[in-house]
Amino acid sequence: MPTILSYVAVSGGKPTRASFEVLTRCRQIAEAQGWDLAAVVLAPDAETFAEAAGRYGAATVYAVSSPDFDHALNPPVLAALTTVIELAQPAVVAFPSSEGVKDVLGALAVRTGGAALADVAEFDVSDGAVEALRPVMAAKFMARTRAEAGDGSPVLVSVRSGSYTDEEAPVQPTVETVVFESDASTVRQTLREVVAAAGGAVDLSDARVVVAAGRGVKDDEGKRLVEELAEVTGAAIGASRAVVESGMFPATAQIGQTGKVVSPDVYFAVGVSGAIQHVAGMTNSRIIVAINSNPDAPIFDVATYGIVGDLYKVLPPLIEELKKANAA
Ligand SMILES: Cc1cc2nc3c(=O)[nH]c(=O)nc-3n(C[C@H](O)[C@H](O)[C@H](O)COP(=O)(O)OP(=O)(O)OC[C@H]3O[C@@H](n4cnc5c(N)ncnc54)[C@H](O)[C@@H]3O)c2cc1C
Repeated sequence: MPTILSYVAVSGGKPTRASFEVLTRCRQIAEAQGWDLAAVVLAPDAETFAEAAGRYGAATVYAVSSPDFDHALNPPVLAALTTVIELAQPAVVAFPSSEGVKDVLGALAVRTGGAALADVAEFDVSDGAVEALRPVMAAKFMARTRAEAGDGSPVLVSVRSGSYTDEEAPVQPTVETVVFESDASTVRQTLREVVAAAGGAVDLSDARVVVAAGRGVKDDEGKRLVEELAEVTGAAIGASRAVVESGMFPATAQIGQTGKVVSPDVYFAVGVSGAIQHVAGMTNSRIIVAINSNPDAPIFDVATYGIVGDLYKVLPPLIEELKKANAA
């Protein structure tokens, strides 16, 4: 029976939400196709996450433990994934899309003789091939793509976060511990520093709530209001390219085509016009609340709730009400 293998990414010592979204989609495909569902975890202590993968339906969990996975270096990740793919012989391998995954997907396709579909918004299996919808032209259009690897090689697919909802379907997984030792002499990269997305305590890519600031946020007072809204909603802080370029927010906070792709439950767009390059990075948000003084701003075309008004007047009472709700 063919296998679909789902990659469970571990960040900050826990599996990412996007991993469970992808695993859920893989389970749906496995059920529809009558395939086996397996997961692969690479971490210093990968076995610890087997139970979590089982909670989302993975019958087999390939656990590859090595301190090498504490550093974002490609050679050990590539070597470990190649080993697991040789062992599991999957027809499809699905990943949550991230900078790290983008960095290894092409090389992994070459090593395994597979085909790669990067950054898709939907995917399914049909007649032995993977069919996917992929945002193109800054997410203005969707391209329908199809990939078939053949000769026992897998199709590799990376999926944008927020494309699917994570749903638990617990099973007791069989854990396959994969022995892995990387050859340090082949590693020619060094990790100097990991720059975390700054501005707020919550990681932007995995955040349930994001408060994004645009050029409507003009000064320290506006910035303080954005930070306060983020604090009362437990949000991560994002930014448009305009306010990153002005130096008000760090580059790590930029959301959009050339920034991060986010998919929170709630996205506050504060003084953001909604240029397509920005929308490309936040359109998968479940609820979008836009605050903008211009009623014709394009952000209102994608917003779930729109507040037409000056953010300096709208935010203080909104923050007060949220504080009261938190206290109640
Ligand atoms: C190749 C390329 C890639 C790009 N990549 C990105 C990207 O990744 N991310 C990104 O964000 N941009 C990107 N851009 C830039 C993008 O085109 C826009 O210029 C940018 O998103 C605009 O940012 P903004 O909405 O903050 O500013 P503006 O477009 O200037 O909008 C400011 C908004 O604030 C509103 N406003 C003003 N004052 C107030 C107030 N007091 N209260 C409430 N609202 C107010 C205005 O009505 C306006 O709608 C890219 C551009 C190019 C060419």
